[in-house]
Amino acid sequence: MTRTLRTAVAVAAALATLALAGPAQARPFDPRPGADGAGDPLFPTLGNGGYDVQRYDLSFDFTPVTYDFHAVMKIKAKATQDLSSFNLDIDSLAIDAVEVDGEKATWSVTTGRSGQELTVTPAAGLHDRRSFDVAVTYHGNGRTTPVGVPGWRYMSDGGFASAAQSSRADTFAPVNDTTMDKARWSFHLTAPKGWTAAANGTATGTRKAPGNRTTWDFRVDDPMASELLGISVDKQTKIEGRGPHGIKLRHYVPEDQVATYKPIVERTAGQIAWLEKTLGVRYPFDTYGVQIVRDGYSDALENQTLSLFGPGWFKDAATSTGYTDVMVHELTHQWFGDSVTPTTWRSAWLNEGPAVYYAALWADQRGTASMEEKMRTAYGNLDAVRKSDGPPGRPTELGGFNIYDGAAVTLYALDQRVGDHDFDALMKSWLTKHRHANADSEDFIDNAVTVTHDPSLRPFLEDWLYSEDNPPMPGHPDWK
Ligand SMILES: [Zn+2]
Repeated sequence: MTRTLRTAVAVAAALATLALAGPAQARPFDPRPGADGAGDPLFPTLGNGGYDVQRYDLSFDFTPVTYDFHAVMKIKAKATQDLSSFNLDIDSLAIDAVEVDGEKATWSVTTGRSGQELTVTPAAGLHDRRSFDVAVTYHGNGRTTPVGVPGWRYMSDGGFASAAQSSRADTFAPVNDTTMDKARWSFHLTAPKGWTAAANGTATGTRKAPGNRTTWDFRVDDPMASELLGISVDKQTKIEGRGPHGIKLRHYVPEDQVATYKPIVERTAGQIAWLEKTLGVRYPFDTYGVQIVRDGYSDALENQTLSLFGPGWFKDAATSTGYTDVMVHELTHQWFGDSVTPTTWRSAWLNEGPAVYYAALWADQRGTASMEEKMRTAYGNLDAVRKSDGPPGRPTELGGFNIYDGAAVTLYALDQRVGDHDFDALMKSWLTKHRHANADSEDFIDNAVTVTHDPSLRPFLEDWLYSEDNPPMPGHPDWK
């Protein structure tokens, strides 16, 4: 569209508004820099303002052992204000070139507290609501010490896996690193012969690349927040299967440990079936799988459609099925956190609370641990934690007991208060209403009140989520 035509359209639109709504003035073009943060209370510099990403397309060429990489990130975005410049989040990436709509843009990198800001100034300002394309060519080395905490996990064979939550997607690629800006993704990961690349979403093919290398293509068709980025290159083997109603499953395990891990990853189908029945809501994506790494990572993380696990969780797998609890925890996140994503990190209890709660229910129903005992203990601990680390809905930082077991106790209290029937109904409504979108604590409270027609749940939940003291546990007056 040319500038003249755009003006004509704007004038026509202004006249139409005038006819409908009386006096109105066409707003003059007033380009200003987009904000360098998205306003997250816990991470003020995370993400950026002034645009909304529609699609990311990442080409990432990785050399194992040396950890060198060369990459191009293509971003399709839409302006949400008149923009003179805008920011992307990066950390320790060497920027080679930036283009906006195919034209060279000027750019600069500044270092902040938790990473860096790439400020892009296009040749001409961008009008509000206009779609634009950005291409960032960059390179780097995965062993470079980032400004913030690391997102790279190093495998002893020379491979890597990404553990980006909550703020480290920017150590792999330029992104709008806020939970608020979910987008569709494509990945084109290139590695030398003998190595296997994995990523979120559906594998759409492999291609030969120059230098005896292979490119693996993946596509994520449902919106995904950058914190859930899950890419890896390692000596790993893909194990494929099918879940309930034909869900495609694909798992990645170390290539020399397939016999050990195959029976473990094959438990996934049964776990999906149990959660679908318990939640009354179908698995939200078209594929799922677990990735168990050889070493270099010891935690567990709900990367969208491909949960990541360190090997330690499975070391007693020959004698105990206790490891299935953590598998159910990360699987629960695919509904709570990945499909329904908190608007800001302050609402992270909406991810971790349900994950702890349903994993405890899974253990309870299998007879391996009592839900009631777990909740009683957590209730006892939560009171002091509220004072030191903040209540579940107002944590002072991420990763604490308050947003995990403390949030699960809050859900348990809600269940005790309204009964299983209404609790199941409001959780199902939550997942359905906010599917593939963002929502926060206030939305959760609104939904609980709407579904139960019980306005007294508002002060009840506010007390549980925001109070400095534990409210009494319904049905258990003896709990202290
Ligand atoms: Zn979790």
